[in-house]
Amino acid sequence: MIALEPLVRRHVERFGVAERAFQAPGRVNLIGEHTDYTGGLVMPAAIDFNTVAVVGPTKGGRSVIHSVDFKKEFEFDASALPEKAKHDWTDYPAGVLWSLKQSGVVTPQFTMTLQGDVPLGAGLSSSASIEVAVALAALALAGKSMALTDVALACKKAENGFVGAQSGIMDQYIACCGVKDHALVIDTRDLGSRAVPLPSDVRLVICNSMVKHSHAGGEYNERRAEVEEGSRALRAANPDIHELRDARLEDLEEARGSMSENAFLRCRHIITENVRVEEAATALAAGDMKRMGELMAEAHASYRDDFAASCPEVDLLVELAAAEPGLIGARLTGGGFGGCTVNLVEAAHAEAFRRDIHSAYLERAGIDAEIYLCQAAAGASELTLAK
Ligand code: ADP
Ligand code: MG
Repeated sequence: MIALEPLVRRHVERFGVAERAFQAPGRVNLIGEHTDYTGGLVMPAAIDFNTVAVVGPTKGGRSVIHSVDFKKEFEFDASALPEKAKHDWTDYPAGVLWSLKQSGVVTPQFTMTLQGDVPLGAGLSSSASIEVAVALAALALAGKSMALTDVALACKKAENGFVGAQSGIMDQYIACCGVKDHALVIDTRDLGSRAVPLPSDVRLVICNSMVKHSHAGGEYNERRAEVEEGSRALRAANPDIHELRDARLEDLEEARGSMSENAFLRCRHIITENVRVEEAATALAAGDMKRMGELMAEAHASYRDDFAASCPEVDLLVELAAAEPGLIGARLTGGGFGGCTVNLVEAAHAEAFRRDIHSAYLERAGIDAEIYLCQAAAGASELTLAK
């Protein structure tokens, strides 16, 4: 979690006045991968890593956003926003302002200081975290309010339409609506959700394979295209199917001949994953951690084999975790092609788990992994500035 006071001091030193501050967390997805753009189910938890935006009035008439992490300033005119992505960190705040403007939210000129501790590009959604923190700040500057699910939708629009990553609604939704000590089962078809408790003696241990991905290009969007191909074939075969969420495995088998083998496999992952998320929600609500762990293992195998979204380093992390005492379940989390594994680990074993995985991964893969011990955190909020 970013400490507020030093950040406020930085803002005041640079810009003179700090008025308000907002934070939004990163997230880890326990189960339900690539289901969130096909009306499916996901089960993420917000984590205790976040991005904070401190805002104040303009200094000199224009708007300036200072990124502590990138050590850069982004100066622009808030009444004539940039319309195109520059393919750097400024796309995220600019995209949010661009998206909010389409909902009638226009800010006066302002100053903003941004800092986050969500690892970048690690699959823990630093992108949604910065988007939602900026969105809450922009709404406050504009004197407007918006339901949290609409904030999530506006941020998704920024990521899809401005940044250029075709991600679903999960990341922004959980950044907005996370519940402390709970995971959220989100139905991305109707945007309803329910919180399921995580046992207090279980830790979220996140192992960063240190293999980087970037969602703004490449494989993520390629998978989406394959899923869309399969969905189109299913819709053509059966008018009751509007999106992949409506399809059963039998429907997919019937339509197999009218889609590529890749499209078939990607859709099979998503259809079986939706069933696993339902089951995982039931298992967690009943405190059945053994079943939860089995479902995570099945989800990893499906993500690796049918969706082809894993990589050797991540598979090694999952294999190493399986041999550790106290492990409940382990799988690749996030958009795939690197990034992190999520491990549910009995609290008493969490520290030893971290040590063992770190040294075994170093020995086998030659990579110095970052491993984070997390708790499920609350969603985005305003932070109170000291008087
Ligand atoms: P992920 O969401 O998995 O971390 P993405 O590629 O979707 O990975 O988003 C990462 C990008 O988001 C960073 O490269 C950067 O441009 C932007 N970003 C995230 N956090 C911050 C931050 N604290 N300050 C500036 N930019 C950030
Ligand atoms: Mg992201």
